Amino acid sequence: MAFESLSDKLQNVFKNLRSKGRLTEADVKASLKEVKMALLEADVNFKVVKQFINSVTERAVGQDVMNSLTPGQMVIKIVNEEMVALMGSETTEIKLNNSNELTVIMMAGLQGAGKTTTSAKIAGKLKAKGRKPLLVACDVYRPAAIKQLQVNGEKQGVPVFSMGDHQNPVDIAKAAIEHAKNNDLNVVILDTAGRLHVDETMMEELANIQKAIKVDQTIFVVDAMTGQDAVNVAKSFNEQIELDGVILTKMDGDTRGGAALSIRAVTGKPILYVGMGEKLSDLEQFYPDRMASRILG
Ligand code: GDP
Repeated sequence: MAFESLSDKLQNVFKNLRSKGRLTEADVKASLKEVKMALLEADVNFKVVKQFINSVTERAVGQDVMNSLTPGQMVIKIVNEEMVALMGSETTEIKLNNSNELTVIMMAGLQGAGKTTTSAKIAGKLKAKGRKPLLVACDVYRPAAIKQLQVNGEKQGVPVFSMGDHQNPVDIAKAAIEHAKNNDLNVVILDTAGRLHVDETMMEELANIQKAIKVDQTIFVVDAMTGQDAVNVAKSFNEQIELDGVILTKMDGDTRGGAALSIRAVTGKPILYVGMGEKLSDLEQFYPDRMASRILG
């Protein structure tokens, strides 16, 4: 299960805090040191951990907390609040234009992150909301990608636009927009190509799409299991093709928590959804407060 080890460690720290009546500053600092270690072991970005512990310490080591009736409880509450803040406080939605105007969403990320699957998951969510999505196969390098998108589109009852694998993605995107306009569809979802590592060609291709057409939302899809790597990749994508939001996939696996806890702080971009499995219904809205509760137990 995700976050298991982090949750266990934090719960131990909290148990100790609760069991004490009065707390000294040294008690609080010792507990926060354990929280720090647990976060680092969960692969949370070092700078993020430092900042987080500073914020908690500033609030927790004061007379208000020390003199309260339940100081341990107060410290736990502060950790919870700061963790929610770290993940963005509020739930953020994919921003859509009015239904009578086309919205173009570009999905970006490394190969295997879950772009194709997540594109179809999102299409299903939008369809359920009464939108008319079109899935577009812009991944012309991975042979199976077009077929995979077609299969998933069919499962979702969403049309898929493809021009085979001999056209360039910019032309495909342009043609798809025409197709959407001519067929009364109002959201275009571009499933783009990923590579195994961040590279120039991939970034250029994405930047070219952004230059050639009006992309309303650029969404970064990333495998939560890759921890700090996920965060570093998100950072470099955001520097080169500004992102609007992030989707963390494979949160059903035993991810340690590093990506979920660091990505917002490092990139400044909100997590929109989390992928919770391979089925096309396995996509959940991201709620920072619920995620914090899950981690803190
Ligand atoms: P792409 O290369 O980025 O388009 O990645 P795919 O959409 O092909 O996904 C790669 C693999 O990850 C596939 O086997 C998917 O079924 C799987 N996958 C995608 N999202 C999730 C998720 O949230 N949980 C799990 N367990 N698997 C996922």
